[in-house]
Amino acid sequence: MVQTTLTNGLVLAKPGDDQPRDAKDIFIRDGRIEAILPSGERRPEGDIVDVTGCLVAPGLINSHHHSHEHYHKGRYDRVPLELWMNYVRPLTPIPVTPRQVYLRTQIGAIQALRSGTTTIVDDLNVSPQLDPEVVDAALQAYRDIGIRAMVGLTLFDKPFFRALPFVEEEFPADLLASLDRVKATPAADILAFVKSLAARHHPSSSRVAAILAPSAPQRCTDGFLRTVRKTADDMDLPVIIHVHETRLQAVTAELFYGKSMFQHLGDLNFLGPKTQLIHAIWTTPADIRLLAETGASVQHNPNSNLKLGSGLMPLRAYLDAGVNVSLGTDGCGSIDTLDMLRTVASTALVHKLRGDDHTRWIDAADAWAAGTLGGAKALGFENELGEVTPGARADLCCYRLTSAAFTPLNNPLRQLVYGETGADLEAILVDGSVIMADGRLTGIDEEAILVEAQAAHEELEPFIATAETHVEEMMPAYRRIYKRCQDMAIDPEILPARFPD
Ligand SMILES: [Zn+2]
Repeated sequence: MVQTTLTNGLVLAKPGDDQPRDAKDIFIRDGRIEAILPSGERRPEGDIVDVTGCLVAPGLINSHHHSHEHYHKGRYDRVPLELWMNYVRPLTPIPVTPRQVYLRTQIGAIQALRSGTTTIVDDLNVSPQLDPEVVDAALQAYRDIGIRAMVGLTLFDKPFFRALPFVEEEFPADLLASLDRVKATPAADILAFVKSLAARHHPSSSRVAAILAPSAPQRCTDGFLRTVRKTADDMDLPVIIHVHETRLQAVTAELFYGKSMFQHLGDLNFLGPKTQLIHAIWTTPADIRLLAETGASVQHNPNSNLKLGSGLMPLRAYLDAGVNVSLGTDGCGSIDTLDMLRTVASTALVHKLRGDDHTRWIDAADAWAAGTLGGAKALGFENELGEVTPGARADLCCYRLTSAAFTPLNNPLRQLVYGETGADLEAILVDGSVIMADGRLTGIDEEAILVEAQAAHEELEPFIATAETHVEEMMPAYRRIYKRCQDMAIDPEILPARFPD
């Protein structure tokens, strides 16, 4: 039985089909698109959602953020990754209640939906101590609001502060000893927890599901990475991992492995389909060839990379080599928003700085493809997500064409990428269920949630401030390491990721 019919919308199926002219009706059965027909050709069935005057587009896929950073929004600027990241993963735990976790998760989910996102990937830090109630609260938030969510608990068996070069030389011995004494849930226990979660909530069958999120090669032993890979293969789970986000990490790779972390992962047989390398900025042509050969995806997070000064990924080189590219926002500690339309816009804008051969510039269609089809492929949802086509899951965003961004209407895709803000969403469906109608989220009381989240933050802010002062104790050593690595050469084959001074 047809569950829902969307009537009289202008359908943006996928890039290349970006000049739709005639209104269509979309018939949805069991969460999937059954048929897309000229309006009026077949009688609407089930729940009828009139989307006259709307553009019906696939929901965007935000391939990675960190919901544990939402209470840190707006706190940092003018700091590179290595000097910033401990603030949002302090070794002095911030005592969040499950309700506060629920609220912070909703902040991100609301912003995601309001910027046209229907699938969100959450790399959720649970260290130092895993609390199953915290994980339950995050999953429940995603269930209530109705977004498709894939949650990976951050996995690492080397503490973040030890995943840098020169730690033994630059950290005062007593500080290092006190950091080493922090009790943390063993990585193997967190992985076992994720496995049991994924057995009950697998992405192929659950709208809110578990995936695997090993943090980064330098934060994991080789043995642990092999175990994670085996788990992914055994359970057919997507994997996300941060690789070569910064120049310092390219230096780290040489010092730790004598080769790039891409080559290191290749040697561990870690690379393959449904495996996303987050950021992947500092790469050589050989690294890019390896990724193309193995079928791994790279994930572009342009706004995080710009704000943390991490560099600019060689996106055109990846696309030319046939590497699949997805898009992510990253967490609200690094870039203070989960706005995916802004991420797509940045992707279509910033790579035009690459050179004068304008025929090779990234355009709106390239960026849209990465935010939809690229994200779907990277998660193993090719032909299922990221396009409006019969057989695909009905994860759809309906934008009002009466807004200024679409007036006058020449090219809906370009005007959505360069001009829309997300404020003009009329309706959103996920798995064919209406989760926004008349511009209002149906699963939650958005206004009440945001008021409560603001109050929760007021309670937590003193704890966040205290944790930050403890992080400050590590900063002199961190700054010395940062400077030492800055002064070291990197592989001359690495493609330019920064403007020269
Ligand atoms: Zn990240």
